[in-house]
This record gives sequence, structure tokens and C-alpha cells, in this order.
Amino acid sequence: MRQRFPITVKFQVMDIRFYNTLTHQVDPFIPIEPGQVTMYNCGPTVYDYAHIGNFRAFVFADMLRRFLELAGFNVTQVMNITDVGHMTEDQLADGGGQDKMQLAASKLKAAKKQGVAKVDNPDDPYQVADYFTQAFLEDSRALGLKIADEHDTHMPHATAHVTQMIAMIEKLIASGHAYVADGGAVYYGVESFADYGKLSGNTLDKLRGGAGGRVADEHQASKRHPGDFLLWKADSSHIMKWPSPWGEGYPGWHIECSAMATHVHGKQIIDIHTGGEDNIFPHHECEIAQSCGASGQSHFANVWMHTRFLLVEGEKMSKSKGNFFTVRQLIDDGIDPAVIRFELLKSHYRSNMNFTRKGLADSASAVQKLRGVVDALVADGVEAEPVDVTHPVVGAFANALADDLNMSGAVGGLFKWLGEVGTADAKSSQTPGEILGVLRKIDTVLGVLNATDGVGDSDGAFNAEALASQIDQARAAKDFATADRLRQELTDAGYDVMTTKEGTTARKKLV
Ligand code: AMP
Ligand code: ZN
Repeated sequence: MRQRFPITVKFQVMDIRFYNTLTHQVDPFIPIEPGQVTMYNCGPTVYDYAHIGNFRAFVFADMLRRFLELAGFNVTQVMNITDVGHMTEDQLADGGGQDKMQLAASKLKAAKKQGVAKVDNPDDPYQVADYFTQAFLEDSRALGLKIADEHDTHMPHATAHVTQMIAMIEKLIASGHAYVADGGAVYYGVESFADYGKLSGNTLDKLRGGAGGRVADEHQASKRHPGDFLLWKADSSHIMKWPSPWGEGYPGWHIECSAMATHVHGKQIIDIHTGGEDNIFPHHECEIAQSCGASGQSHFANVWMHTRFLLVEGEKMSKSKGNFFTVRQLIDDGIDPAVIRFELLKSHYRSNMNFTRKGLADSASAVQKLRGVVDALVADGVEAEPVDVTHPVVGAFANALADDLNMSGAVGGLFKWLGEVGTADAKSSQTPGEILGVLRKIDTVLGVLNATDGVGDSDGAFNAEALASQIDQARAAKDFATADRLRQELTDAGYDVMTTKEGTTARKKLV
């Protein structure tokens, strides 16, 4: 009988440490309720296809959730959909600016013309938001984001939570944190909240001096402090509007997340809140002021985690430079979504990630290697043994992630072990079932073993799985000419086709 790995690593969830933007240091992670984690992720604004930078933030949130699940926590993840017709400047500050909707509507019209979007009225803001929400969910599923399958219950849409936002604004007015200014604008008075500035460092004094660079707006005159931000804007001409005690209008961007996080989690304090680094100020600073102002609690989220920006070939992504990619563009170029996922995951979330063709090719080899080992074991009829974090290899992987999500360390350890698996020594110390079990367990976090056909294939345009099973039928009927023709068809479409005793599988080539 083969000797097993000695269990040398005892994984303890107590050892998890995350960098907290709020405390500016790496702290031990201690959830409010033992064994449970509540997490809120700022989600997409659905007036365009999300780009790979956006997806760095979302894949990070998914990886964090999957790691916590591996560590034994029950995670409740909530990610919002920002579908209120917000304006460009709204993203940056608090109110005025150009409507993004017209741009989105023109994109939708183009998509309708090409037959991609099936909508009756591309000028209807609800149809625009719905189209880009569905596109986001498709991209998210392709990248293996678990939250996409919980869309109905855990992805609140801002337009469906205006009542909760109004209730929160009323509370803020009643408790002296907000005031009604000229023209039905309701502002949060930053001077009412002593902790304002704690997250971002943009304290009131700095804001008064114009720090943050984005505090001036057309309503400046009616504000009590230049840092005060909009909670409600009465504007009956706005493209999306709702009745409110302050006149027909729309909510500010920041109040959406405070209201939805509280409502969907059913809690005033949550464990983790995430977003990209640009969310720190003003969005998350304002969320803290609103949520704590309304709840009377000293905290809104205990841990604030932010991903640094993604660069492309060392430069900021920009349409004019031609280095701007959406996930669907890359998939259309024939890149396996699992390779995109791995590429977005593999560098540390607190360093700028540089998205390069070379990096993608390296990620493709990594994914290929993992799948190759798994495919070979499966082809040999090996069944995965159940393993958990007490297994030394899984434990080492989890321990690296427990250290503020050190993914490069985790993956480095995994590949070092994989390199040793083939050596005579290692062969004697582990069973094939154990190796398969380890890879499958680790993949509950990496999420790259199961190939998806990518965005759009579900429409039935090209069904690789069906063709693969037709190959098996043809082979069973000894119709090898048909089997060969189908195999060629799949190869021409960019698939690797493999027939084993389990049957035929077709996988999109990686890059
Ligand atoms: P938005 O749809 O603009 O609200 O952005 C969605 C998320 O993507 C937010 O958490 C942003 O902070 C994040 N984000 C935007 N651009 C990038 C980028 N280049 N790299 C990483 N995250 C980004
Ligand atoms: Zn948010």
C-alpha cells in the first residue's frame, strides 16, 4: 500500500489576516458571528459592457468568497447593480454632469442593428440597464463568478430599492446628518460626522481646501460645507425619477450602496466591503458616513478591501490608446475565460496588475498544466479522494491565501508540488486519487478546471458539447468518417478534441 502524506500543516481559520484600508494595516480577520461572513461588493454600473479592470475587482471578490468558503465559513455575498441613470460626474463626485444614458442608448441601438440586442426601445433606460445587466451576468458566468448564479436574491438593483434609500435619507435628516437645500437637493452634512475622512484621509480641513479635487459642483452655493454630498436630487426632467418627500427626482450614488447593503444583509454592520481603489473616495467614505449616521453604530463594515487598478501593457486602459478590453472581446478573440480568470487572479490584489499578452500566454500554460494533470487522471479512471484544508498541500495553499490573499505564493506552492508529483519519491507518498482530490479542492478557489464555452455559445450558435457527443455516437455506430468530419469541425472552430474511454471532450484552445 502506498504511503500517504504525513499531515504536517494544521490549518486554522484564526490565522486569516487581511489588509484593512480603514486601519491602514494587516489585521487578524475575526467575523462578527463565528463561522459566518457577510460581504458587500460594489458592483457594476450597467451602461456599458464591463471591462477587464472592472472584472479584476469582481474576480477578486469571488476569489475572496471562495477562499473563505474553503476556510470553512458560510459566506453571504451581496453585489449591487447600479442601474439608476447616473451621470458621469456622479461617479466622480456627487451630482451634476452629463448623462451617460445617451451614450449607452446609442451603443444599444448599434447592438440592435447588429442583431445582438433584442430590445424594442433602446432609448428606454430600463431596457438599456437590463441589456447591460444581462451582458454582465453572461461575462460573470463565463469567468466563474458564483454571485452571478445568485442574481435573483443577492444582486440588488438600485432601481428596486429607492424606497429603502428614501427611508435612510429621512433617518439622516431626522438625526441631523442631512439637510434639505435649495431646489429639493438633500445633502449629507459632512461636519455632522466626526469620522469623515478616516478611510481615505480626506478629512474635512483638506476637503475645505479642495482636496480630492472633485468637491465643486453646480450646487456648491447651497451647501453648508464644500464636502457635503448629494443624497437626493429633485429633478422631474431626469431620465429616471421617483416621487419623494423632496420632490420627484433621483437618489445620489453613495446612498444606493448604504441602503442596499443594509437591506439585503438585514444588518447594520457587516464583515467585509470591497471595491476598486477609486471607490475609496468619495464613494466608500460617504457610505460609511451615511450608514453609521443612520444606524448610530461606530462601524458599517469592519474590513474594507480595495483592489489596485489594472493596467494594460503598463498603461492606463483607454479607448483612444486601443488597449481597452472587455471580457467578451477577449473571449471572441478565442481566449478561454478560465485563462482570463487566472490572469486576473494571479497577482496580488494590492499591487497594480499589468495585463499583457505574455501574461495571458503564461496563464494559458498554467491552466493547461492543471487541466492536463486532471484529464490524465480522469482518463485513467481515477476517482478523487475527499481532502480538505488539513491536507498539507491544500493547507499550504489556504495558508498563503490566509496571509492577505497571497495568490502568487499560493499558486507558486501548488506548481512546485505539481512539479514534484511526477518524481519517484512523490509517487510513493501519494495516491492518484489524493492528487486529484487536492487539485479539485484547490480549484474550488481557482475555478479554472471546468472549461466554459464562453459568452454567447449558450445561444446555440456553436454547441461544442453536442458535437462531442455526436462524435461518440458516430464512433459507437462505427461511422468513423462522420466522427472525423465532426472532429475537424471542432478543431477548425478552435477546440482541442480528446477521446478517452470516458468519451469525447472538446475544449476551447486556451489562447
Ligand atoms: P463601475 O462599473 O465604474 O462602477 O466600476 C465597477 C468596479 O470596477 C468598481 O469597484 C471600480 O473601482 C472597479 N474598477 C474600475 N476600473 C478599474 C481598473 N482599471 N482596475 C481595477 N478595478 C477597476
Ligand atoms: Zn458601492
